[in-house]
Amino acid sequence: MNQKKLGIALVGLGSYAGGQLAPALQETEHCYLAGIVTGTPSKISTWKDKYNIPDKNVYNYQTFDSIKDNKDIDIVYVVLPNSMHAEYVIRAAAAGKHVICEKPMAITVEDCDRMIDACKKAGKMLSIGYRLHFEPYNLEMVRLGKEKTFGKLRKMSAGFGFRPPSNVWRLKKEMSGGGPLMDVGIYCIQGFCYVSGTEPIAVTAQEGKKTDPEKFKDVEESLTWQFEMPDGVIADGTTSYGEGMNYLKAEAEKGTFQLTSAFNYSGQSGETPNGRMNFPQVNQQARQLDDFALAIKNNRPTPVPGEMGKRDVKLLTAIYEAMRTGTKVQIK
Ligand code: NDP
Repeated sequence: MNQKKLGIALVGLGSYAGGQLAPALQETEHCYLAGIVTGTPSKISTWKDKYNIPDKNVYNYQTFDSIKDNKDIDIVYVVLPNSMHAEYVIRAAAAGKHVICEKPMAITVEDCDRMIDACKKAGKMLSIGYRLHFEPYNLEMVRLGKEKTFGKLRKMSAGFGFRPPSNVWRLKKEMSGGGPLMDVGIYCIQGFCYVSGTEPIAVTAQEGKKTDPEKFKDVEESLTWQFEMPDGVIADGTTSYGEGMNYLKAEAEKGTFQLTSAFNYSGQSGETPNGRMNFPQVNQQARQLDDFALAIKNNRPTPVPGEMGKRDVKLLTAIYEAMRTGTKVQIK
């Protein structure tokens, strides 16, 4: 196996890149923070000093395409507002780099197709920033669902919500593609799919009442939806920018297994009919980043590919259609 650490360039030095990804890249074994791409010149010196990044590995959005000539950069990680993901993933692939794209992959299914095609054409791998596929409590939920430890699954429910500040791109539909569903509701969708090992076939959805119509003039403040899954399983999702919530619950024939703190960067907790789960707390992002580096080095697929990102954008779109029309939407 190639022992060299792969070089990663982060695109968009916002709160997730600065707060989570760059620190995680100090803990990774198979990749490291080699470069940055930013539109804010004032961020450059802090990042360069903190992470020992040479001038030649610093780009802005205009010079980004010349990253193709930079041998230090193997992987481009797009951490921009949702509506910008497609453009930068496609430009990264055209520059001959492997790509990680943050969730949601894009704001339309068509964009997802273009992103997947661009990476295929360039012969490069595309992965989505689904960190919970590398987190032990969520992996235990996957195992319990898969092995049917407590019998057949009957019902699932999940909720994820928080209160964002006003005047951020998350509240502008043009940049976010929608409200909390795009941002954190997507984790519930992920949970339903990875616990059941299946995908929804139909959905109904209802928008919640807006408590702050000015703040939420462009996007939903909250939303509930009901997925019909195969084998008669129902999955109830809820997401909100008005209140905090964070759980993933699975009811099976012989009892309930659940995470009462499911989706955050740390602090997971959960229980089964046999008692409390007890797993180590890990750096999810470091594991996610190392797994992608190893997938590239060993020429094996990533467990969180662009196709999974596209599936989820299709499901997000179906939920919004069900919400808008008030009808049950079949998912093909
Ligand atoms: P931020 O607003 O904190 O950062 C986004 C960065 O993008 C900005 O700091 C800026 O960086 C750059 N940018 C370029 N153009 C614009 C623009 N027009 N408006 C705003 N920012 C712009 O967002 P987050 O870091 O919270 O989110 C970024 C992405 O990461 C989103 O897709 C989000 O869904 C995802 N995310 C994923 C998480 C996870 O757990 N997997 C957690 C949090 C976010 P610069 O100044 O360097 O150009």
